[in-house]
Amino acid sequence: MYELRGHHLFCLLGYRGMGYSQEFVKNMTHVHQKLRNNPQTLIKLVKGPDHLCAKYPNDGEQHCQDEHIYDRDAVILERLGLKIGQVISWEEVEQQITENVVPSDIMSICESCTWRTYGVCEEGVQEVLDGKGLRKIN
Ligand code: SF4
Repeated sequence: MYELRGHHLFCLLGYRGMGYSQEFVKNMTHVHQKLRNNPQTLIKLVKGPDHLCAKYPNDGEQHCQDEHIYDRDAVILERLGLKIGQVISWEEVEQQITENVVPSDIMSICESCTWRTYGVCEEGVQEVLDGKGLRKIN
């Protein structure tokens, strides 16, 4: 079971193997491919730093504890009808995305994120809506 915070449920959709450091990418790719290959994998929704934040470079920036990031977590969980402390499968997360999210939500919900401009997160939402799930990372 992985502990994940709200906004990372969206980040996983747009993940293409890019990240903040080699260690961060290795960890995120592992989680991403596990969820892709076994969508029954359970996730515990947490408040604040999670399994992905654990490998965020320790470069002095407070990204993982930034209050705007906490706000984004809360908005995304609310949109998906999910709550902190809940344990659900990745498959159920994708189901909630299918029922409650459209690609253009990334533009508004993730307004301040630097990755947003790549367009991969909107693409990732669309792929879940199309029933394709997460992409294979090479
Ligand atoms: S735009 Fe940023 S915060 Fe939003 S899903 Fe993509 S990477 Fe995550």
